[in-house]
Amino acid sequence: MMIVFLGPPGAGKGTQAAKLSAKYGLPKVSTGDMLRQAVAAGSQLGQQVKAIMDAGDLVDDQTMGEVVKERLAQPDAAGGVVMDGYPRTRVQAEFFDQLLTDSGRGGVGLVLLLTVAEDLLVDRLSKRRVCLQCGANYHLEFKAPVSDDVCDCCAGGLIQRDDDKEDVVRERLRVYRELTEPLVAYYRAWGHLREIDGTDSIEDVFTRVDAAVARAAAA
Ligand code: ADP
Ligand code: ADP
Ligand code: ZN
Repeated sequence: MMIVFLGPPGAGKGTQAAKLSAKYGLPKVSTGDMLRQAVAAGSQLGQQVKAIMDAGDLVDDQTMGEVVKERLAQPDAAGGVVMDGYPRTRVQAEFFDQLLTDSGRGGVGLVLLLTVAEDLLVDRLSKRRVCLQCGANYHLEFKAPVSDDVCDCCAGGLIQRDDDKEDVVRERLRVYRELTEPLVAYYRAWGHLREIDGTDSIEDVFTRVDAAVARAAAA
């Protein structure tokens, strides 16, 4: 099944997507992680997107379409994936529907919208730490790594993302409201949107996420 996480920066999309991916063996496709890896590697894509990401703005729809199309053509994506961070605009959502139809996958199976109040988002992002090597993510209070700057999973170095500084976070939230929030209505109209309160603990939110997936799979 094609599962899409939707919600503002800091809502917990990456965290919940990783748990679903581990439980069901579906690959997690995080466009943010893919772009950060490209920046770290200094590839042509990375050089093209670095300044845009640092400013908290969105990479253009055409580039994102190419990135996702190439990723979904990999054999591990044939049986479904968990999308984290794509689609993020109306144009991306329409492109994605077309891509899934053209490749015989029949469209998005479930959209999980995580909702969290804005002040809590800012707090979560200011204490987020990420591993550039494996994409694992942590929170200094709620999901603390054993050591503040070493990844528990792969022993890579943990960093604070440049775009998790407060002024960039405000810009990302503005961009979310302007360009991504309209997708809530888009997917609600189409009927496979489930809204989940993302305020509670990681485990409690996952219980609800998992129940929504089980219902969608049975439908
Ligand atoms: P978060 O998980 O905090 O919402 P991401 O890691 O998904 O943030 O994305 C980080 C940045 O990568 C975005 O601010 C944007 O610049 C770029 N990006 C990621 N996915 C997309 C996308 N689908 N469209 C455009 N830009 C994207
Ligand atoms: P997103 O991908 O939506 O931007 P993340 O999954 O990266 O969000 O979560 C943002 C930060 O908040 C991370 O530091 C993560 O560890 C933490 N976090 C995620 N879910 C919860 C939760 N339910 N309660 C407390 N902290 C959380
Ligand atoms: Zn790691």
